[in-house]
Amino acid sequence: APVLLWFRQDLRLSDQAALIAAASEGPVVPVYVLDDDTPRQWAMGGASRWWLHHSLASLDTALREKGSRLTLRRGKSADVLQALAKECGAGRVHALHHYEPWWRNAEKAVAKALDLCLHDGILLLPPGAVRTGSGGIYKIYTPFARAVMEQMPPAAPNRTPAIIDAPESWPETDRLSDWGLLPTKPDWAGGFKKDWTPGEDGAQANVAAFIDEVGDYPTGRNLPSVEGTSRLSPHLHYGEVSPAYVWHRVTASNADAEIFLKELIWRDYTHTQICEMPAYGSKNARDDFDRMDWRDLREARGDFIAWKKGRTGYPIVDAGMRQLWTTGWMHNRVRMIAASFLIKHLLIDWRHGAKWFWDTLVDADYANNSVNWQWVAGSGIDANMFSRIMAPLTQSEKFNAGDYIRQWVPELAALSNEVIHDPDAHDARPDDYPAKIIGHKAGRERALAAYRRIKG
Ligand code: FAD
Repeated sequence: APVLLWFRQDLRLSDQAALIAAASEGPVVPVYVLDDDTPRQWAMGGASRWWLHHSLASLDTALREKGSRLTLRRGKSADVLQALAKECGAGRVHALHHYEPWWRNAEKAVAKALDLCLHDGILLLPPGAVRTGSGGIYKIYTPFARAVMEQMPPAAPNRTPAIIDAPESWPETDRLSDWGLLPTKPDWAGGFKKDWTPGEDGAQANVAAFIDEVGDYPTGRNLPSVEGTSRLSPHLHYGEVSPAYVWHRVTASNADAEIFLKELIWRDYTHTQICEMPAYGSKNARDDFDRMDWRDLREARGDFIAWKKGRTGYPIVDAGMRQLWTTGWMHNRVRMIAASFLIKHLLIDWRHGAKWFWDTLVDADYANNSVNWQWVAGSGIDANMFSRIMAPLTQSEKFNAGDYIRQWVPELAALSNEVIHDPDAHDARPDDYPAKIIGHKAGRERALAAYRRIKG
């Protein structure tokens, strides 16, 4: 009898433990279920859907080269898989473990009806694999990373089967183009194509290109004006490469890759946190933040829109928000600055910002997004950073963001490095660029006062 191979955020054929197990058992029916019911408010955002469309097309092509193909179905995962298994006469489903709360629920529901075999491969180590002396999970990143490092390297990546046996007949499939994953009018994803090649080939090409740059990562990663990071985040989110594959390729280059590998461990850390606290995306990990007097979004609406559109009058924030809108990605340092600005200078609840990122990032990832937003807010499980208020203008200067601003904020393109970080202060602001929507000092003081109130 055929077995089902259930793809989710693991859209690859290499180093795919579920595929290897399925292929060793007989004919395989690979399936992707577009499921907006199970995740509910965490259904994929617009930018993620654009990525998904192209990644699924690429996966189907790769499967066909091995004599197989992808079946597409839509609906609640557990119902769809049960119906498909019945149609094919299959009893068993192979899949990789996923850790988003809705996927864990879906896994439970599927396992009730079918023989579900789950395999590892989304992370370097399964959550809970490293534990503190007293058997708990690590709440703080640094000791967690140290403990993971001791278990590295990860197992060597698996080979890919040369041929995947086909069933006697293929089940019916939806047409990808009927799913409406791509924007119609306006085509806001026009700028995505230039930067990204979704799918396993694109992911591996990105790894190959990055290998030559690993040595420059420790300095380059902080500079938004240079391409100093791997840009692997959407590929890793969709599982188009495994973190183990990235680990082995990077360590085989002769550069000192430790700082980069530690960023990769951040993914494991965030996924461990959402396993402990599944509501991380919607609930403060520190209860005292439930008393925070965030501004009412009706009153703060204008500021929130200015932030989303990149019209706050803070060039570094605006450049980041426009890069996000145009390309579906934002440089990590600028994500921190833009998030901090929203939460502290504008005193807007981090959840509104996280939601906007969820909709606009091609790498939108429940664990990474939620844990990083709460980290910036100080409401997270780890160190409380609320009172460390980033000064966007100083950050912009320190990390040399001049060229980055010129690229994303064309109104400021003619300004020199001396004035571009803070045109207002130098009387150099062009008429078509907004004045600061709030002064740095005023924003900072309002934020600190609100914070003092929750601390009683
Ligand atoms: P590199 O610097 O090359 O790092 C390699 C990989 O390590 C990344 O692809 C990513 O998978 C992982 N990584 C790096 N930094 C982090 C981090 N801080 N936390 C978790 N994993 C990390 N990352 C997402 O993948 N999805 C998100 O939705 C997301 N939202 C974020 C929201 C905020 C407010 C902040 C401050 C950060 C967020 N990040 C998110 C983390 C980080 O900004 C991106 O992973 C990184 O910028 C991606 O670029 P890169 O692949 O070139 O990273």
